[in-house]
Amino acid sequence: MTYNSLRLILGDQLNENHSWFSKVDDKVLYVMMEIRPESLYAAHHIQKIIAFFTAMRAFVQKLRNKGHQVQYIKISDEDNLHSFEENLNKIISEYQISHFEFQEPDEYRLDQILSKLQLPIQSIKVFDSEHFLTKREDLKTFFHGKKQYLMENFYRDMRKKTGILMSGESPIGGKWNFDAENRKKLPKNHFIINPKLFKKDVGVVFNEIVQAKLPYIGEIDTEKFIWPTSREESLELLLFFCNQCLPNFGNFQDAMAEKYWSLYHSRLSFAMNVKMLHPMEVIEAGIGAFEKNKSQISLPQIEGFVRQILGWREYMRGVYWAQMPNYAQLNFFNHKNKLPSWYWSGKTKMNCLHHSITQSLEYAYTHHIQRLMITGNFALLAGVNPDEVDAWYLGIYIDAIEWVEITNTRGMSQFADGGIVGTKPYVSSAAYIDKMSDYCTSCFYDKKKKVGERSCPFNSFYWNFIAENRELLEKNPRMTMMYKLWDKMDNNLKNSYLNQAKHYLNRIELI
Ligand code: FAD
Ligand code: SF4
Repeated sequence: MTYNSLRLILGDQLNENHSWFSKVDDKVLYVMMEIRPESLYAAHHIQKIIAFFTAMRAFVQKLRNKGHQVQYIKISDEDNLHSFEENLNKIISEYQISHFEFQEPDEYRLDQILSKLQLPIQSIKVFDSEHFLTKREDLKTFFHGKKQYLMENFYRDMRKKTGILMSGESPIGGKWNFDAENRKKLPKNHFIINPKLFKKDVGVVFNEIVQAKLPYIGEIDTEKFIWPTSREESLELLLFFCNQCLPNFGNFQDAMAEKYWSLYHSRLSFAMNVKMLHPMEVIEAGIGAFEKNKSQISLPQIEGFVRQILGWREYMRGVYWAQMPNYAQLNFFNHKNKLPSWYWSGKTKMNCLHHSITQSLEYAYTHHIQRLMITGNFALLAGVNPDEVDAWYLGIYIDAIEWVEITNTRGMSQFADGGIVGTKPYVSSAAYIDKMSDYCTSCFYDKKKKVGERSCPFNSFYWNFIAENRELLEKNPRMTMMYKLWDKMDNNLKNSYLNQAKHYLNRIELI
């Protein structure tokens, strides 16, 4: 048996509508592989590894059912050489292949690996992954010459270009942004229906991972795996979102509650990031639901959702390709502290962190505000080295792929890029956390207490951060007010904040 071309499909390229698959060609061999280095570059959550392997295996089955020739190399296969280059070389010589083709990877690391492959073939051809709504370089061109990339400008341009939620040149409803109407706290006794979970048995894959001795973090119920791992399941989750969650998506987008790990968010990030769903079909499904059901789904709900995908998701990808590889080294505040070890166990007396971390370990998921304003906020206030923060986010979440993880973590959350993504650091004291959640009610610490025993660490850390980074931040117009407040404070109070923060920082493992 011989083939003309070998086509590599990466684990996050599960796009069955890609033009590659529009016709069956017996002279084309597809290859997919589970290799050790892809599971070792970060300490991944077990649910993330299982989600990838299960989705990849389901995808292969689909392609084979359609008549495509696919070679699948499992993590447990004895002849797996655990390297893209070595596995590819072996297949190329076995089938006398002369052409190699792959789709543009989303990660810089993989882009480098694939562009340096040494293969005994006549030609290499790179294809678009046909997933994103913009090209890699579009954002760089759009913001040419600008130091800061304002997401809002990019988003408005995307709305105009696509015509989504537009009436001619104007946004439907007369406004681009309805944030002021959204973002409410979850009312007491508010009831949320059970999230859609898939409850699949993934014992076989789990055992293979254990036997292959792949390191992992987090928990799993192998008999009830909750994440979608096929296009059909992803579409089911999308439908559930449109019917059950979209009516309240914007309203409670930033809310956090002890009782619910999943609120009205879509939990579609994994399905989209591995390309089982196309971002435009997700947007169109949301808009279709809005148009059919305007009495239930208001404009602020759908606009809030569209903004995340048409805006933030495409924007972060553009920032990644405009800024890599330098972006991965940025450390604006020169933060050097270690990530507290309880980020890996949830064992802290701070209820907000305890909840967000244990939820992450249990489900490989938290929503955006938990990532930004709880775990990210604390790491920034505590001066943690962004490399360590990145490693944590890259491992723990089901949807963590570097292009979207690092831009959110290093950029939006840690302000380590000095303001390319964010206009100011996302930091807060207990007041914000208390406003948006019920975490403070049962916390060991007192949200109102600024210093002294049981004072909430976020309070003293906040002012300590403001004071310590004055030189870097005081010229930022969005920080002026904070520096005015700090300057008006009595010196004794200032010192007690700084001493309290120092006290907590010195015993950070125990707070
Ligand atoms: P929803 O709230 O339902 O939003 C719908 C979709 O919009 C998401 O599925 C996602 O595709 C997109 N989206 C929303 N916000 C963002 C954003 N800021 N950037 C890019 N896309 C966005 N997202 C990832 O996909 N992978 C990551 O590794 C990741 N790491 C993050 C780390 C930090 C520190 C922060 C603050 C955010 C991170 N995000 C990441 C962005 C966002 O938190 C997740 O996309 C979202 O929580 C996924 O849940 P969901 O599907 O329920 O999202
Ligand atoms: Fe978090 Fe402070 Fe509230 Fe406790 S009191 S939950 S530590 S913000």
